[in-house]
Parts: sequence; C-alpha cells; structure tokens
Amino acid sequence: MKDLSYKTESFTESVIREMTRICDDVGGLNLSQGFPDFDAPEEIKKAAIDAIRNGFNQYPVTFGEPEFREAIAKKVQDYNKITCDPATDITVTCGATEAMMSTLMALINPSDEIIIFEPYYENYGPDSILSGATPRYVTLYPPDWNYDKDELAAAFNDKTKAIIINTPNNPTGKVFTKHELEEIAELCMKHDCYAITDEIYEHILYDDAKHVSLGSLHGMEDRTITINGLTKTYSVTGWRIGWAIASERITQRIRKVHDFLTVGGPTPFQHAGLTALAMPESYYEQLASGYYAAREFLFHTLKEVGFKPFLPRGAYYIMVDIDDLMEQLSAYDDFTFSRKLIEKTGVATVPGTSFYANGSKGKNQVRFTYCKKMDTLRQVREKLLSLV
Ligand code: GLN
Repeated sequence: MKDLSYKTESFTESVIREMTRICDDVGGLNLSQGFPDFDAPEEIKKAAIDAIRNGFNQYPVTFGEPEFREAIAKKVQDYNKITCDPATDITVTCGATEAMMSTLMALINPSDEIIIFEPYYENYGPDSILSGATPRYVTLYPPDWNYDKDELAAAFNDKTKAIIINTPNNPTGKVFTKHELEEIAELCMKHDCYAITDEIYEHILYDDAKHVSLGSLHGMEDRTITINGLTKTYSVTGWRIGWAIASERITQRIRKVHDFLTVGGPTPFQHAGLTALAMPESYYEQLASGYYAAREFLFHTLKEVGFKPFLPRGAYYIMVDIDDLMEQLSAYDDFTFSRKLIEKTGVATVPGTSFYANGSKGKNQVRFTYCKKMDTLRQVREKLLSLV
C-alpha cells in the first residue's frame, strides 16, 4: 500500500501519555503526566453542570463565547498587563495544545525556523513537524536552567519566524525573569520575528518568583501570541479550554485554522470558565501554597532516596539526575530506569530524553510531577524509600 504521511512517521506517540497508560495497567502511582489526582473546586464544577442544564450544549461562537472572551480580556489586563480587544484579539481553543498548533499553522511557511529552549515540553517537537517549521534548540543549563546569551543570539537568523517560550517552564520549573524576557524581546524585534508564549502555569510560582508576560513588554504587543487556558490553574485538564491572544492581524489567521480544525472549544465549559476566572485572590494563593508544600515534600523525598533533583521555581515538575541510582536499578538509560522504577516501586515518571531533540541528552534525567494529593506523595515516599 502507499506510504502514509512522512510527517506522522517522523515522531513517536507522546511518551508522557504512554507512561500514564503503563501506570494505569499496573495500578501504579502516576508521577508522570501532569494532571491533578484531586478534584476541581466545587463551584467551578457546579458552574459546568448548570451550564449544561441551562442549555449551553450546541456549538459555541467558533472563536469563543463572547462573555468568556470578555472575562479573559479582563483577566489578562489585570494579571498579565496585556491589553486586548475581546472582539478581535482572542481565540478560544481546545486546550493550550490546540492554541499552539493553530498558532504555528497560522504563522509558518516552508523553510521557516522556530527557536525552542531545550529541554522542552514534548508537544513542541511534533508541533514543529506538523506545521512544517524547522526547530532550532537553545540549551537551558542545569542547575538553574539558564541559557547562554550568545547561544541564543546565534540561533536567530533571517529564517527565524518565531521563538516559543514556556514560562513557568515544563519540565524544568524555570521562571523566566523580566531581564531575560527583555533580552528575548530585543532579539525578536531586531530579527523581526514573533514570540509564542505558553503561560499555562502562570499562577504556580514559588520563592517570590514573579510571572512576567512577554506580550506586556514594550514593542512586543503586536508580535506576541500569548497562550493559556483553564487547565492547570483550575485543575480541569479534561475540559480542554485554552486560548490564544494576539493582535487582530494574527488572530484573524489563528481563527481560520482553529475554525477548520476543531470548530470550537466545549461550550458549557466556556460558560463555567466565567466562574473560574472570577475566583477570589485567595484561591490563587491556596493553589500556589498547596503546590509549594508538595514541591518541598517531593524535593526532599527525592534527595533522601539519592536522586539529584533540580529545584523548580514554578510549575509542578521536578527534573532529577538519576546517575547515582542507575546501577542500583540495573538501568543503563532514562527509559530503562523509568521502566525498572515502575516495576520495582509502582511509581511512574517520564524519561528525560522525551524533553530533548537529540536523544543523547536527557539520558541521565527523569521528570517527576507533584500535582498530587499529599497522601499520594506520602505513598510515593514509602515506595521510593524501598530502594534505599
Ligand atoms: N502538560 C502535561 C505534562 O507535561 C501533560 C499535558 C497533556 O498530556 N496534554 O505532563
């Protein structure tokens, strides 16, 4: 039979989501895929049920229900310091995942390059291939996951169409500082390219880290696409409500792609989103302090067990160096390590190479998530301590 698409041949299925399936098969403790094992706030769930009862069950306005876009515009003005017109500058999508894909498809022409910081959230690899962009990777160096300014500058050239920035960052927990974002903005303006920011973890910050939106910086208003969603902030990973904010010129193109790709994000959950976005300040404080306690617990557990964890300043993942435990598990790389760890302890992680383009990097790293109940994390500790 004739070949299937070369594009879909050139990447594998998501390792993160595969680890969840393996974990479910063995009834393990899932510290691989980043979704909470606790429920969304009661009032947000009730708002979704009410929306369904009240008849919000047909197609939404394709680029987002008007009231929901208005609420998003207000929120980004207040929290992100980005001014946008809900009528022309917002596209509501099926999760931030679709927002990223629709944005790339709206921007990319053959031979365009995009810059991605590495390690990176694994979706950006296939996203590049599917959109036809050629990725150029710029290394984030542990333990602080800083980039080298000269390496970043050298990655820009005439073909560079866009740079993707995920802050707070998955998988490293890096929170890009205002100074770093200003450096990036300067390069974007110098080389006339766009910035696509994935800010899905914007409320999950520790140790006085501050979230800064690149789109709020002077000169970046018309060249930044700011992506976000309800998913992580309100613990509703299954709702699939995201959005992309960009100037009208860019939004018109994103909306076209989005319309033909998915038509719209689920209508009742957009209406429930009004309740989510109206949550009081105390909700966000509790979210961050809950994750802070989980970070402290898992970070110290991982050290106790003999891993070398890198302390995250945001999001809910910890990358660890596994060198010192490799022999003990008779593992020779990140994949064998993750498999042996789940076999021996029932704890699922994501192999480090999933976050690197070059397979030789990340072989001595795995990623743990801690968006779990303290009780789950205590069970994880018991299991992991059996290795010591
Ligand atoms: N962001 C989550 C992670 O890195 C997963 C998101 C997803 O699977 N769509 O684990």
